[in-house]
Amino acid sequence: MTVYAYQTWAELEERLKTTKTVLFPVGSTEQHGHHIGVGADWIQADAIANRVGEKCDALVLPTLCYGVSGHHKEFTGTLTLSTETYTQAIYEILESLARYGVKRVVFMNGHGGNNTGLTLAAKRARDDFGMLCAICTWWDILANEKLFGNPAEQHAGYAETSFTLASRPEAVRMELANCMATKQVDDDIQFTRAGMARYKNGVVRIPLQTVDVTDTGSMTETHPDDNPHVFDYSMITPEFAENLMNKVVDWMCSFMKDFDKMKETEPNIKRP
Ligand SMILES: [Zn+2]
Repeated sequence: MTVYAYQTWAELEERLKTTKTVLFPVGSTEQHGHHIGVGADWIQADAIANRVGEKCDALVLPTLCYGVSGHHKEFTGTLTLSTETYTQAIYEILESLARYGVKRVVFMNGHGGNNTGLTLAAKRARDDFGMLCAICTWWDILANEKLFGNPAEQHAGYAETSFTLASRPEAVRMELANCMATKQVDDDIQFTRAGMARYKNGVVRIPLQTVDVTDTGSMTETHPDDNPHVFDYSMITPEFAENLMNKVVDWMCSFMKDFDKMKETEPNIKRP
């Protein structure tokens, strides 16, 4: 019993007597370059979460397919919520779960733009219901992996292409695959992505629209000196995709188990 949506209310009432932690997949509906469907981010999160459910009996909530994607809105098909609406929606779902005794929620997040809202909602839920949330994003899980020289965190790069291929191959056009080097708009301020730039020895956050730094919608999310334009996706086979997916699923299964029994500190404020 892992799919929340397939259970009756009475079955859930029984299950939630013993299940402390639930898994909540969240993504977005936004452009992903020329070769991945606009559902990429929720498709990936949904597939990872449901595989985790099957493998380690986690209770998996219905996937939230819309996220905070206003920075992609110049590309047709992107559907977005504001950060305020998104935060409130997540918070109210957490509030609903708290009502039935859920104490811990693990997010499988497929979209970076959601992180601010997820964090705000998680902090409020902690304050208001004592709920403990963990926000897992698959590219953070793969932060120490190089995929044929490329980081996992690329918009429509090797990892996203792999996860979508392993989940819904009908959403991938491999013959059009590319990941554009982050386009530079200035000589001195060097952009590594739409919201981050290098300046001298430091970095600075400058929110731009995605369209400012890519023509195709895909993006390496690094400076071109570190990762040039990627055209060759021939190594991204169904086998490679499946292995990468399994790596993240195994990590999530292990994390879910340890998070479920993670100790919480007792409030013990001593003032002098
Ligand atoms: Zn994506």
